[in-house]
Amino acid sequence: MKVTELINSTQSTAFSFEILPPLKGTGIEKLYRDIDTLRPFDPKYINITTHRSEYIYRDLGDGLFRRDKLYRRPGTVAVAAAIQNKYGITTVPHIICSDNTREDIEYELLDLQFLGITDLLVLRGDKGKHESVFTPTGDGYRHAIELQQQINDFNRGIFVDGSEMKVTATPFSYGVACYPEKHEEAPNMESDIYWLKQKVEAGAAYAVTQLFYDNRKYFAFVERARKEGITIPIIPGIKPFKKLSQLNVVPKTFKVDLPENLTHEALKCKDDAQAAQVGIEWCIAQCRELMAYGVPSLHFYTVGATDSIREVAKQIY
Ligand code: FAD
Repeated sequence: MKVTELINSTQSTAFSFEILPPLKGTGIEKLYRDIDTLRPFDPKYINITTHRSEYIYRDLGDGLFRRDKLYRRPGTVAVAAAIQNKYGITTVPHIICSDNTREDIEYELLDLQFLGITDLLVLRGDKGKHESVFTPTGDGYRHAIELQQQINDFNRGIFVDGSEMKVTATPFSYGVACYPEKHEEAPNMESDIYWLKQKVEAGAAYAVTQLFYDNRKYFAFVERARKEGITIPIIPGIKPFKKLSQLNVVPKTFKVDLPENLTHEALKCKDDAQAAQVGIEWCIAQCRELMAYGVPSLHFYTVGATDSIREVAKQIY
């Protein structure tokens, strides 16, 4: 079933979460343990992030360095297939423009098709750590919408060189990203919503938000999107606040604000264990308000927060 069908298949608010592929060389068992922790809450689907390569410099001695390309978290497609086979839960691998030529993407789509994975989250992807602005690789794309167009062609049986497939399969269905507090590069919210609308018109079936801690921002964003004629589900992306360092790391990394009340409570904490408890309570209240508002689904970002999410889920599901 497609993500939109899965979230519509339940009367109550659906539950889903995002995981990261394991760091290279660390095996998949820890990931399975995280999934087992959250499985009792009946996840409708599981997203798997994709991580571009980065450059590292190896010291060769005598003042010489070699620049090598490193994938710290490879294996998105394989992890998606492994989870789908082991648990029978729909997986949604993220497919990104970063670091990919059109041909790279085409082979990824073929692998996914052969594996029977037909739901995707289509993204531009992060810029490289060595880049000040996002730069496409070779003939790769600058924006998610261009990647959507390649997927749409693939769904129609057309490869990037214009040749036709002999046999087509179940078409891919996909969602895209959106930002209740605006994407960092967008000049203003009007522009960001304009491009979201273009992504919807290009075929996005739903959008998932960047994480946020202030429901007012989500409500205002949804209202504005609806006024602009965007009718697809806008699924809130949620992550419990977990440790004191996140007071600075979250705004810097995700370009979102932490509400003053949450910050005041966090600053009263003596250690991360107390901060995690504040985060759980905040998240429970946040989720309850979103459920009362009628969101179709809650999508949790699990990295470093699986235990907190279990505590939240115990209270709200
Ligand atoms: P786009 O849709 O291309 O938008 C980027 C910016 O360009 C926005 O400001 C938009 O307003 C503007 N824009 C869009 N289209 C056009 C156009 N045609 N012309 C001009 N301007 C345009 N990153 C990863 O590397 N891997 C992941 O797995 C990953 N998962 C994510 C999951 C979610 C739910 C979210 C919210 C983000 C995720 N990211 C991931 C981060 C994401 O890749 C970055 O936020 C990236 O900078 C933007 O991606 P996008 O798909 O929103 O890009």
